[in-house]
Amino acid sequence: MLAKIAFIGTGGTIASIGTDQFDLLDYNASQQRLDAAALIERIAIQGTIADISPVNFRQIDSTAITSGDWADLADLCCQLADDSSLCGIVIGHGTASLEETAWVLSLVLDLKIPVILTGSMRPLTGISTDAHANLAAAIRVAIAPTTGPGVFVVINDEIHDPKTVTKTHTLRLGAFQSPWAAPIGYVDGTEVRFRQVSKRRNETFARDLLREMPRVDISYSHVGADGCAIQSFVAASAKGIVSAGFGPGMATPAETAALHDAVNAGVIVVQSSRTGAGLVVDTAHHQSLGIIAGGDINPQKARILLSLCLAAGYSHGDIAEVFHSL
Ligand code: ASP
Repeated sequence: MLAKIAFIGTGGTIASIGTDQFDLLDYNASQQRLDAAALIERIAIQGTIADISPVNFRQIDSTAITSGDWADLADLCCQLADDSSLCGIVIGHGTASLEETAWVLSLVLDLKIPVILTGSMRPLTGISTDAHANLAAAIRVAIAPTTGPGVFVVINDEIHDPKTVTKTHTLRLGAFQSPWAAPIGYVDGTEVRFRQVSKRRNETFARDLLREMPRVDISYSHVGADGCAIQSFVAASAKGIVSAGFGPGMATPAETAALHDAVNAGVIVVQSSRTGAGLVVDTAHHQSLGIIAGGDINPQKARILLSLCLAAGYSHGDIAEVFHSL
């Protein structure tokens, strides 16, 4: 008997229909995306690797995902996992924000079965689309006995940790990488191999907090940045600001002054880096300004973590500890 999985469709390129097979770039223009059931039927994968229960959820571009969608998606995963015959859940997602959805789910889900996110760089109807292969690989990981509970990103025959994975190219196949960290496993044909023991992230946040995530903005450093964006975020009642700074995690002097003002106004500031990998140094200077070092997650993931910490009512010290122990 085939193992049973649920496939949740959210839309994205993996569900997108272009004008013809050569429409690889502007297929969003058609606004045509299949729901989960139609996608499974079109790929003709039902009953081949697994017994798939399609679950229609959204048919949107992932740039349109909101924290409300995340809350609904997390609730849906929990409901589905109540079915003890289910081996895993696969989520088809747009690649634009896939890493953010994977990260947020990894922070709120504590299920007994794996949750796998996948997407594709070429539309379902495109020449040499990666949609079929990515969906098949994701299903293989969902049903593999070696896959423990947790949230994983499976794309381009690689298994990635939501903490490290990021989209590194606007268009190419193989755009998803874990810079300076590598995949945690591979899918080679029918075989699923983990390089390292699949880690379960402890549940740290209640799912309900996704419904009340406070405003947290990201300020992106560049030569000559004058802190105006930071002042605007404070004026817009941001409860937190993530500074996507230069190299080791540093903003311009003018931005640093604006960040210090934000801290004095009660905003929690996390210093991150725009480089895309590596630990942000917890400098004595930042400590003296009340700015928290953002660990080794990218700014968009730091934003999510900070917002959840704020929703949970954590103190400045608690939040510093959360980022320190990443
Ligand atoms: N526009 C797409 C999205 O929904 C991009 C993709 O899926 O590759 O994110």
